Amino acid sequence: MTTEPNAPTSRGTVTIEIERCKGCALCIPACPPAVLRMSEAHNGIGMPYPELLPGCTGCGACLLVCPDFCFEVWQYDAPLRHAEAGAPS
Ligand code: SF4
Ligand code: SF4
Repeated sequence: MTTEPNAPTSRGTVTIEIERCKGCALCIPACPPAVLRMSEAHNGIGMPYPELLPGCTGCGACLLVCPDFCFEVWQYDAPLRHAEAGAPS
């Protein structure tokens, strides 16, 4: 396993029910480390949805702000370091 010294670290992760998402984007500014971004793709009702970038802390702010209960949140027992490309390593 190879990681860069400044590779992002995730202390948690989320799953996102993209077909339930209405594309309101309230979750984007609510994420303290700014690791959510709206997709360019669209779900079945034609809306963009959030995508997760490396660096989630598992804080749960997205879960609390989403009016449609799209998020589930987990915290890792130990921080997960990502490779330079951002994929879990
Ligand atoms: S807050 Fe919920 S409904 Fe709104 S964009 Fe984010 S995931 Fe979708
Ligand atoms: S759990 Fe916190 S850090 Fe992770 S995506 Fe949600 S708001 Fe962002």
